[in-house]
Amino acid sequence: MRIGCGYDSHRFEDGRRLVLGGVTILGATGLKGHSDADVLIHAIIDALLGAAARGDIGSHFPDTDARWKDADSAQLLAAVVEEIAAAGYRIGNVDATVICERPKLRPHIDAIRARLAQLLGVDVGQVSVKGKTNEQMDAVGAGVGIAVHAVALLA
Ligand code: MG
Repeated sequence: MRIGCGYDSHRFEDGRRLVLGGVTILGATGLKGHSDADVLIHAIIDALLGAAARGDIGSHFPDTDARWKDADSAQLLAAVVEEIAAAGYRIGNVDATVICERPKLRPHIDAIRARLAQLLGVDVGQVSVKGKTNEQMDAVGAGVGIAVHAVALLA
């Protein structure tokens, strides 16, 4: 068994839609980024690649490459899941903590877990997503953006 950790953060940017775990959160401020800025999927990609010691999201999908401009991060995750499977790994579970002051994540957690399970090719019981605030501390706590920590277990 191999474990990997991933981290990502993006700052809010007006006029963009918020996509978290492949789910669009209607009415929320979006995040700045070269791709669709799905901070949750980005952290999970790094956890998966980290567990397999196969580089990181930046080495796979450089943000200097116009191909990944406004990319659908769900497609990037699907490509990584395929690579991990081709290398002989099976996903045990994924667990993530999404940290932001807004929006409130609880109403969206089940939809996000279901979408991630679909993209990862696992049962929803193998995917955990938790929402937290940063108790108004530091930049995330001041509402500047969203940060995510993720871990993945591969067998
Ligand atoms: Mg990112």
